[in-house]
Amino acid sequence: MVDMAKPLATRTRSQQWFERAQQSLVEGVNSPSRGAAVYSPGPVFLERGQGTRVWDADGNEYIDFMMSFGALIQGHAHPKVVEVVSRAMAEGSHFAAATSAETEAAERLRGMVASAEVVRFANTGSEATMLALRLARAYTRRTKFLKFEGHYHGWYDPYLLNAHSHPPGQLGPRDSPTPIPDSEGIPACCFDDVVLAPWNDVVALERVMQRHGRELAAVITEPIMANMGCIPPREGYLQRLRELTGNYGVLLILDEVVTGFRYAPGGCQAYYGVTPDLSTFGKALGAGFPVGAVTGPRSILNRMRSGENMVLHYGTFNGHRLTMKVVAANLELLAADGAYEKLHRVGDAAIAGLREVFRRRKLKAIVQGFGPMFQIYFTERDAIHDYRDYCAYADTHRYSRFVHGLLEQGIYMTPSNGLHWIISTAHTEPDAAALIEAADRACAALS
Ligand code: PMP
Repeated sequence: MVDMAKPLATRTRSQQWFERAQQSLVEGVNSPSRGAAVYSPGPVFLERGQGTRVWDADGNEYIDFMMSFGALIQGHAHPKVVEVVSRAMAEGSHFAAATSAETEAAERLRGMVASAEVVRFANTGSEATMLALRLARAYTRRTKFLKFEGHYHGWYDPYLLNAHSHPPGQLGPRDSPTPIPDSEGIPACCFDDVVLAPWNDVVALERVMQRHGRELAAVITEPIMANMGCIPPREGYLQRLRELTGNYGVLLILDEVVTGFRYAPGGCQAYYGVTPDLSTFGKALGAGFPVGAVTGPRSILNRMRSGENMVLHYGTFNGHRLTMKVVAANLELLAADGAYEKLHRVGDAAIAGLREVFRRRKLKAIVQGFGPMFQIYFTERDAIHDYRDYCAYADTHRYSRFVHGLLEQGIYMTPSNGLHWIISTAHTEPDAAALIEAADRACAALS
């Protein structure tokens, strides 16, 4: 148990590593979401993890609620994962050849996700969403696609529009958002085929589908918006999206890279009762190992069959044998009775406790989401419904100060408000209680 009353020792070693890291790595890290742009004065260097605990380079202990951006659905170093990997490693890590491991992993996945008639494994969520779009374009013989403001689907060129937050004045009209590229180095023509729309707004959706429906290959959406914190869909929104895409012959790609295997064994699609044409998975599927997957009907995925009109998808590491062993073991654990009941119970306890802290401390803050994933917004509003709400009303600086206060007390979380709190199967009610206690102290420091 982390002793919450005891402040952490120094982070001298983390600081020394950060100095050294910057000599060899850009900003000392391998992704901007991990560096000094987010963590002040610099990142905490993590060295070890077990269950819900992580230890930094100075030996400080934290309860981890970031869980590798949601990848660690079983927590750190789950004994079953360790056993499976150790055994598989001794036999040879990867062959880039047909293996029984990839069949077993695919069978498990199909057994859990109803819309997954067939599966193609890749290595990351980004690879999965790239492939899904290529398949949709080949299948429909259309090139345009629709993405929503504030949704992130990986770092593939055409997806990198309006995935970061910006001052509300820069966003343009709601019905016709100003395209804002998230990256330099992408030719403007990459965005010629992107139609942008606001999310969670049925009227705007009907209008944009009326205008563009017949030319779209796909609409891609996160079922719960997870890259502006945690924004659940309004009631009936996903169902209407399913209906409209069907009416216009547009494929619905449900990007479940974050939500997959988190809320229900069958993904968010099972939770909300929406059947997509294509689904993308990653993160929790691999329980800490890099994986991506595209699933859907044979009629669409068969476009990847070899031949003249093939949709190309190669990859030396596709269906990596170690990862496939982990996927199968992970899905077996998640299919066991009680796994999701516990994820929801512990997460809901954490959420209820946090709400009570904000109420008692008279802080204008809300907690959105439920069970296994949620986010805190410092805001005067009752809810954050979409990207524009997030840009206008979420006090991300205050949130960052709050999380830095938690880091001081042994709670590990990213100070970036655009991400989300993650509950793994390793988390317990005492972990939730420790978070609530630390949050209370962090709030006292804030006010
Ligand atoms: N889709 C969504 C919804 C995501 O949140 C992410 C990553 N955060 C991705 C795709 C890309 O996944 P990866 O980082 O594994 O490439």
